[in-house]
Amino acid sequence: MSQQIKFLNRKVVRKVIALGVALPVAAFLVVSSSSTPPSSVALDISPTATSSISRSLVAHPVTGAIPFTGNLKAKKRLAKIAAAKAKKIAAARERARLVKISRNFTRPVLNYRLSASFGAKSRLWAHRHTGQDFASPYGSRVRAAERGVVVFAGWDGAYGRKIAISHPNGVQTWYGHLSRISVKVGQRVKVGQRIGLVGATGNVTGTHLHFEVRKYGVPVNPVKWLRSMGIWV
Ligand SMILES: [Zn+2]
Repeated sequence: MSQQIKFLNRKVVRKVIALGVALPVAAFLVVSSSSTPPSSVALDISPTATSSISRSLVAHPVTGAIPFTGNLKAKKRLAKIAAAKAKKIAAARERARLVKISRNFTRPVLNYRLSASFGAKSRLWAHRHTGQDFASPYGSRVRAAERGVVVFAGWDGAYGRKIAISHPNGVQTWYGHLSRISVKVGQRVKVGQRIGLVGATGNVTGTHLHFEVRKYGVPVNPVKWLRSMGIWV
């Protein structure tokens, strides 16, 4: 009898020990499997999953590449980055283009201060100002802003001593109030070539160069025109 009890006891003890080991292992397996995210999280389209994916989309530090996930937000972000990159490239191309064409243009005077601007109103002019004034010391060199052919050189009323140069693409540049004219009609001039000297002839209140740009006869803003050719004034 006592032996039987002892045997039973041993059986019970073994069972208890077996359970004591098995239960925590089973519990651990259950807990760990429930806390591990499913492997298909990239395909989960729930809002929380989407935001966590787009947040984790970090561009490669060198190539700028972003792993494609098929996610809408990621696509938008990719498009935004591509647009910014294209804009940068376009800006660099424009800078390069301006640097290249700027060799064909120059400022009409080298030492100056911009005074009366294009479109300004004054009692001096019947309408609006048709050019840009460059306040510059008397006798400063006036230079051809672009290569061309002299089409006028002489006195022109309110402009005083004036030079007009014809350039390609229907453009003419006019230089007014000169103290001296150094070119003749029909003469070809190079960009930057001295064509005359700053003065105060014609309708003026002080010494300056009146620089005018005409496109097919219509005055345009000379500062904008120069800047569009890569010349910053
Ligand atoms: Zn003027």
